[in-house]
Amino acid sequence: MSRTLPLTFGYQNAMRERILELLAQSRAMMRGQIELHECSHNGNFIPDSKECDQCDYEFECQWLYNNDEFVALERKTLETLLDSLEFALYYVDAQVVRWGHDKRGCHCEACAWLRDCRHLLRESQRL
Ligand SMILES: [Zn+2]
Repeated sequence: MSRTLPLTFGYQNAMRERILELLAQSRAMMRGQIELHECSHNGNFIPDSKECDQCDYEFECQWLYNNDEFVALERKTLETLLDSLEFALYYVDAQVVRWGHDKRGCHCEACAWLRDCRHLLRESQRL
């Protein structure tokens, strides 16, 4: 199967909007998982910081830092946005497994998000 995305402008734009929406939801879920009481800079990731480097939430904070709504997601390529979404999918999936949810039948925010996300990634031929 080809990994090339259909190139019509309208299709790409619609896809971008759905990806940005899914990323916004995953940012909110990921932020909710980070325990900030031990962070001296309130969850703001600082590249090259020794503290961030040794923190349990390094990956979450780094992802949030790279995918912040103010970091001009609008200007990133579709491929880059899909990479970010793939990372979020693995992250949320691991959480849901840890919580022991029934991914197919569960109606919680995370499980519903996972289904939407998989659907979109399949459609974009990422899965
Ligand atoms: Zn669930």
